[in-house]
Amino acid sequence: MQANQRSKGPIVTIDCPVCHEQEVEAKTYNMLQRDGIISNFTSWVVCPECRSHLLSSRDVNELPNLSREELQETISEYFPLVNRAFAVLSLLLGLIPFLGLAIGVLAVLLNRRPSRWHRLSRIGFIIGALSAIGFGILIAIQKK
Ligand SMILES: [Zn+2]
Repeated sequence: MQANQRSKGPIVTIDCPVCHEQEVEAKTYNMLQRDGIISNFTSWVVCPECRSHLLSSRDVNELPNLSREELQETISEYFPLVNRAFAVLSLLLGLIPFLGLAIGVLAVLLNRRPSRWHRLSRIGFIIGALSAIGFGILIAIQKK
């Protein structure tokens, strides 16, 4: 059985790492997700400008005590597991002709916003493209 428990936190002033809006008044909440015996506690800050849910590495009730710099280090853009998995897969499977390229294209599409996942996906895509080209050349040579 899955149950989510959300508890509201204080309003904090943040510089949003997604839309780069400065000093916006953001709502916060803590979330406790229970799925059977597994429970997962996460803390979130919601940017009022772009509506991004930013992951906070600390309990939101601690956020008002932090300096502006500390806050910047505490909150970060959230990347779903699927997006991160595709970025890594595109690197690992890049050398498999055509499959690597297909995963690379998907990874780039999923991770369009500038981030390290975006950079990883681009590298995976390039490896995939090169292996597909290499494989094509190999086939062409063998046909002669
Ligand atoms: Zn924003």
